[in-house]
Amino acid sequence: MFQFEPIKKVSIVIPVYNEEASLPALIARTLAACGQLTQSFEIILVDDGSSDRSAGMLTAAAEIPANHVIAVVLNRNYGQHSAIMAGFNHVSGDLVITLDADLQNPPEEIPRLVATAEQGYDVVGTVRANRRDSWFRKSASKLINRMIQRATGKSMGDYGCMLRAYRRHIIDAMLHCHERSTFIPILANTFARKTIEIPVHHAEREYGDSKYSLMKLINLMYDLITCLTTTPLRLLSVVGSVIAISGFLLALVLVLLRLVLGPVWGAEGVFMLFALLFMFVGAQFVGMGLLGEYIGRIYNDVRARPRYFVQKVIGNYSAANYSAKNYSVANNPAANHPAANNQEEE
Ligand code: UDP
Ligand code: MG
Repeated sequence: MFQFEPIKKVSIVIPVYNEEASLPALIARTLAACGQLTQSFEIILVDDGSSDRSAGMLTAAAEIPANHVIAVVLNRNYGQHSAIMAGFNHVSGDLVITLDADLQNPPEEIPRLVATAEQGYDVVGTVRANRRDSWFRKSASKLINRMIQRATGKSMGDYGCMLRAYRRHIIDAMLHCHERSTFIPILANTFARKTIEIPVHHAEREYGDSKYSLMKLINLMYDLITCLTTTPLRLLSVVGSVIAISGFLLALVLVLLRLVLGPVWGAEGVFMLFALLFMFVGAQFVGMGLLGEYIGRIYNDVRARPRYFVQKVIGNYSAANYSAKNYSVANNPAANHPAANNQEEE
């Protein structure tokens, strides 16, 4: 096993959307927590088009010299994950930690995350130890967690918790994904080699309300599913086949009944009509599923995720570099970006 480079600088990325009430405490507590680090640090606050005083407060905090605060102000509301991505574009640290602005996850956990990442993990996730959310939110996220586990094969207990640490190469990999809607923890996991989860404290929201309305939650769930897989498209064909086959079987049974038990069972063809209908509906679904297959492929090509990421090349660098570059250029034009191969060192 190779060793990871030591962490020299830690970047904290925090999306902020109408959080004026919690901002003063957030900035003070995050600065205090980061002050305990032996590494240098920066705090990147991304204003996601807030309509309250948040943007002004961020700017004011960033203007204080030697405050280590950087404010990134977006022109309108793009959603939590897009805001975090915007923050990722401005990080300069070797380890990037994301955090919610509502103080539900205490910033005091930052040093622990850094210490865990230093043991050689690409991604340090967190599990809310004593989760303080409504019953509805809890059971919804349990369902989603189970789905994700099945789809990715990676066991990650709590995808909803955004207090997470990512090594720089994971961030670079994510910045090379071209899809518009992303779900960052899952995306990060697809590029991670070694991940770990640690339990963290979870508090009730002290200031303001959740920024996720039902519509936004539904949207997030779609982002999450499409980020993971194109299986739902494939399900169309499966459902269609099942319907068509049942229709066909029904028709067979009806014919048999008619032959064996007499014309009463024919019911003047009404049931036969149903059976035919099932077959046609099933065939339509199969057709849609087929279209879905193509759409799934187009989607995969359009988002042009890098086909693979080289974390490090050890040994005869020039030869390895040559063939690796050639391969990625020949097979994936999107990877033909200097940073796409930037993990090759030594
Ligand atoms: N957030 C954002 N843009 C949005 C919605 C939320 O930047 O459109 C931020 C919000 O300010 C907070 C984080 O995302 O820092 C999580 O939001 P919230 O606490 O409302 O979500 P919940 O804890 O209810 O899942
Ligand atoms: Mg919250």
